[in-house]
Formats: sequence, C-alpha cells, structure tokens
Amino acid sequence: MTFNFLILFFTALLAGCLAYFIPRWDERYFKLVLVFAGSYLFAITVLHILPELFVESSDPTKMGFYILLGFLLQQILALLSTGVEHGHIHHPDHQHHGMQVGVWTIMIGLFLHAFLEGTLLTEDGSLAGHLHEHDEHAGHSHHHHGSNNLLFGILLHKGPEAFALVAVLMVSIKKRWVFALLVVFAFASPMGMVLSNYMYESNILGREGLNVFYGMVAGGFLHISTTIFFESSPDHRFYFNKVLISILAFGLAVLLEMLL
Ligand SMILES: [Zn+2]
Ligand SMILES: [Zn+2]
Repeated sequence: MTFNFLILFFTALLAGCLAYFIPRWDERYFKLVLVFAGSYLFAITVLHILPELFVESSDPTKMGFYILLGFLLQQILALLSTGVEHGHIHHPDHQHHGMQVGVWTIMIGLFLHAFLEGTLLTEDGSLAGHLHEHDEHAGHSHHHHGSNNLLFGILLHKGPEAFALVAVLMVSIKKRWVFALLVVFAFASPMGMVLSNYMYESNILGREGLNVFYGMVAGGFLHISTTIFFESSPDHRFYFNKVLISILAFGLAVLLEMLL
C-alpha cells in the first residue's frame, strides 16, 4: 500500500517534471510514448480488468452497464480536462474561456479521473491483491495473478498524463504554480486508492460497490486508450511505426500478464 502510494505519486511527479524542465520537447517522440502507453492500457483493460470483472460479477449485464457509464463519464471529464488524460496537448489560449477558468476546469476534470483510477488499486479488492483459492490452500500469501501488471499499466499511463498536464499548464500560468498543481495532481490517484481502501475495509463500500467503481474505471480506460488510437492517426493514414509500437505494447502486456 505504501509502496503503491509512493510509486504512483513519484511517477506522476517525475514525468511532470520532465516536461517542466525540458520545455522544448519533441512532440513526435511524445506521441510514440503516448501510443505505447495507450496500447498497454487497452491491453490490460481487455486482458485483465474486463475478464475479471465479468467472472466475478453476479450480474454481467449490470457490469456492462457500469462500463458504458464509465465511458460516458470519461467523455464528460475529457471536456473539462481538454483531454490531458489521453495526452492531448491543447493550448488553453486558443479557448474562449478566461485563463484561470481554463486551468481550474482542467484540474477538476483530470483530478476526478485520476482519483477514480486510484480505486483500481484497492487492496483485497477483486483486481489487486486478493488470494487465489489454491494459494490459500498452499498456506502462503500470494499476490493475485497479474495485479502487478495492472499497477505497471497504470504507471505507464500516468507518465504521459502528467507530462501533458505540465505542457498544457506551462502555456498559461507561472512555473511555480504549474509545479504546485502537478503536486496536487500527483496526489489524486494515491488518494483515490487510500480512500477506497478505507471505505472497503470499514465496510462502507462492499465488494459490489467496489465493482461499480472498477467497471466505471474500465469504461474510462476504454475511452482513453481508443481516443489515443484515433488521435494518433487523425487523417486515417496507416502509420507503420505506430502499429509496430502497439504490437510491442500488446506483446509485453500479454507476457507480463503471464509472468507477474
Ligand atoms: Zn483529445
Ligand atoms: Zn489517468
């Protein structure tokens, strides 16, 4: 738990600082990293999160409904955040809103998304870290199969997300305020994890309630990862290097899903 908290926080902070200290970043290079992280996110959603949710759910159709709801919620959050969570680097000065309003709406949209994302890492929840029956019989504690891969996928996604946030904010506000907001953002997912963990352990939130969150985050991940696919080739052209990167990401996700 402490490890997850720290690694989530520092991955966001360091990735954000990368954009903070290297203002003249190469957009093409960022796009390739983004496609890799997006493909990986899509892969763990399809390989890990969705199968587990449907297997554990007593009512799979209801679970499908939560996934759709999460997809729609992410559509709304992306309006607020201007798409920072899928690595979209818009320039707020092109917007009609006042500058400050732009920054706050971006922060609210992105914070809510990252907070929800953190709930996926609830300990003893169905997705991260509960015991397999045969492990219990074997008498030793064992992390749930693939749960480290889930964390890895979220960290991969967190990097470009933080990078894009800083790149977007740097256009409109002073550097030290950008840093302050980066720190606030870096706390969002760890806070979501701690709060959902607390609510689960004190029985405020049952397994069913937790699964509602999981389904909604999965829907959000489908939205984010597919948007990355579409935006990486806006003119419908076939970019061989991007397809190659997707194949690499899928391959690594499958491999780590089996190994971790
Ligand atoms: Zn976008
Ligand atoms: Zn995110």
